[in-house]
Amino acid sequence: MSSDPAAIRRFAIAIDGPAASGKSTVAKEIAKRLGLVMVNSGEMYRAVTWKALQENIDSSDSAAVVAMLGRIDIQCGEIGMSSTCTIDGENPSDELRSEAVNSNVSAISAIPEVRALLTTLQRNYLDRTSIIMEGRDIGSVVFPDTPFKIYVDADQAVRNARRSDAGEADSVHERDTADSTRKNAPLVIADGAVVLDNSHHTVESAVEAAIAILKQQGLPDIYLS
Ligand code: C5P
Repeated sequence: MSSDPAAIRRFAIAIDGPAASGKSTVAKEIAKRLGLVMVNSGEMYRAVTWKALQENIDSSDSAAVVAMLGRIDIQCGEIGMSSTCTIDGENPSDELRSEAVNSNVSAISAIPEVRALLTTLQRNYLDRTSIIMEGRDIGSVVFPDTPFKIYVDADQAVRNARRSDAGEADSVHERDTADSTRKNAPLVIADGAVVLDNSHHTVESAVEAAIAILKQQGLPDIYLS
């Protein structure tokens, strides 16, 4: 337990769910409403994938990916209220949603050493600030003890449509299958998480539903004023 008294008041809200379920949008809005730093853990996995692609490393070559981890310097922090990561001083944010990253990120994120490194960086946020973090294993592995856990889901057809409306080439179904069936930290509904079906919500109604869940889970009203 930390000896810093402020740490007692810090907390993490975990938002997990499959690709294109709308969890980032919901998490961003809640972050604004509650004044929390929003951490997009998927971007960390995407950044490592981007770096491997830059170095022409095959995403199925886990030994080469692990060797790369030993050479690179990943720094994660926040600018304003949003998380940001650099690798060797470069911020790849514009390239994180490319088709190449979309199709290789699940293989890279199944590598245990990648997960161990990024999980540590994710937990470090809580040493500095309260956060809302979205991803796949936030409630199950990164912050299993937080009482604040939501699993945002949506019908497959709705999720596919969201990606193609955004003009993004992304095999949502393949990524979900890989992410849910990997051995290490698969996508699951974490113990204690409440499922929010986001198939037919507007952003506003999804955020209201999420805030009602967080209140039920014990989030004090003071954060909502
Ligand atoms: O959230 P996003 O779709 O950007 O995540 C990209 C990929 O990163 C996921 O498909 C998954 O393979 C990986 N990921 C993960 N664990 C997390 C967040 C993302 O494995 N906590």
